[in-house]
Amino acid sequence: MEALENYIDGKLVPPGDGRYLDNINPATGQVYGQIPRSGQADLDAAVTAAEQARAGWQATPAEQRAALMERIADLIDRNLELLAAAESEDNGKPIALARSLDIPRAASNFRFFAHAITQFASESHAMGEAAINYTLRDPIGVVGCISPWNLPLYLFTWKIAPALAAGNCVIAKPSEVTPKTAYLLSQLCIEAGLPAGVLNILHGLGGEIGNAIVTHPGVKAISFTGGTATGAQIAAQAAPKFKKLSLELGGKNPSLVFADCDLDKTVAGVARAAFANQGQICLCGSRIYVERSIYPEFRERLLERVTALRVGDPLSDVDQGALVSEAHMGKVLGAIETARAEGGKILCGGERLVPDGRCAQGYFVAPTLIEGLPLACETNQREIFGPVATLQPFDTEEDAIGMANGTDYGLAASVWTENLRRSHRVARQLDFGIVWVNCWLQRDLRTPFGGMKNSGVGREGGLEALRFFTEPKNVCINY
Ligand code: NAD
Repeated sequence: MEALENYIDGKLVPPGDGRYLDNINPATGQVYGQIPRSGQADLDAAVTAAEQARAGWQATPAEQRAALMERIADLIDRNLELLAAAESEDNGKPIALARSLDIPRAASNFRFFAHAITQFASESHAMGEAAINYTLRDPIGVVGCISPWNLPLYLFTWKIAPALAAGNCVIAKPSEVTPKTAYLLSQLCIEAGLPAGVLNILHGLGGEIGNAIVTHPGVKAISFTGGTATGAQIAAQAAPKFKKLSLELGGKNPSLVFADCDLDKTVAGVARAAFANQGQICLCGSRIYVERSIYPEFRERLLERVTALRVGDPLSDVDQGALVSEAHMGKVLGAIETARAEGGKILCGGERLVPDGRCAQGYFVAPTLIEGLPLACETNQREIFGPVATLQPFDTEEDAIGMANGTDYGLAASVWTENLRRSHRVARQLDFGIVWVNCWLQRDLRTPFGGMKNSGVGREGGLEALRFFTEPKNVCINY
């Protein structure tokens, strides 16, 4: 059985104390590999390597850093099939999705920030004839990047790429649930000739090695994507040490469907927003609000579309694969039970699915639509992060906005209308970091990405990410 290794000081190495965790294929329920259960000694070695590499990497001209990152992007492209298969095996997602979304986006992340750093400029502020200020933006030093399991390589590289581009050395930890593509990335970094110690990848448990990264005095900033509860723990640990923090957390995102929408486009878009990646994307639209006059027709057409989704072996031609783990499947099924207990009517799904053949022990849940629940209930307030969405009618634009804004989260919303004025008016009043109009997950990597309220602190993407990974220093020169 394959045992993954940590990537420390440019080399692949086993964990110092020889402890491992099982890696499980969620589509089959079978253990298929071993993951290092890293500890403090592994982290200390990684931080030492990063500190040693730091001056050299910082002094490397941006063009050379960019060229190395482009080489990594090219290697990701060249290994698309290998990486897509690994992502699907680790995560349970359809291999076609990994091939079309996850892996190409990982390459784009490296390429985008390779280009961005060559265009990154800092500010200057002239004070008339008195003085001039200019701002230097140096790398922070050694930074930590911690990512979740839902879009494994996609989100891992979304953090690592800007950190490296800006001249930092990185200690990165992928989710222990989906470690394989991060391991393959370490092999590609070696092949690309990334200098030793510039990027170090440690595997293991969040509460152990993740926590150790957050608290290590040598790690000066933390970029974290994951659950809101974990984000709160990380903030509590890092804040008293005055570490710079970027937190991308959970969501409970609304899709607002107005009677003047393009119905065909909206049914397809809202279904995709709710169920893409088995509903396991922080941006998924899990609360669907529909203007009452079209509610019956929209409901019928959405139901038709959702019940037609093909769920099964991620290696075959399906729309939905497995949920990421048995524990997560249990959580999602528990949330459906809560919805039933709260009086929700299950329109479709609502149960575990057991495919024939090699996936009979896998963790599959039927795409589930629920109606009849008020805003103030657990189902409509808590993130479920699975193939479960609720449907509610609304009467006025004001009601729709009120319901959309009525949770503790504020990550992403989508608005479906052909009325231009309405789209601007509603977008302005929504308390979300991202608002999509007549689309969902249409991404431009230059735009600020992140959430308000309990969905996070700070923004990723474009210049925001490069600013996060640099320390501004203002120099004021008197004439
Ligand atoms: P999680 O919070 O359990 O874990 C995320 C990462 O943090 C993992 O690598 C984990 O090992 C690590 N971790 C756990 N405890 C830690 C600790 N105490 N200290 C340091 N690291 C720790 O989240 P998950 O279950 O992997 O991912 C699902 C969650 O991520 C959902 O809530 C989802 O909404 C959120 N998410 C947010 C975004 C976004 O951009 N806002 C994107 C994807 C996922």
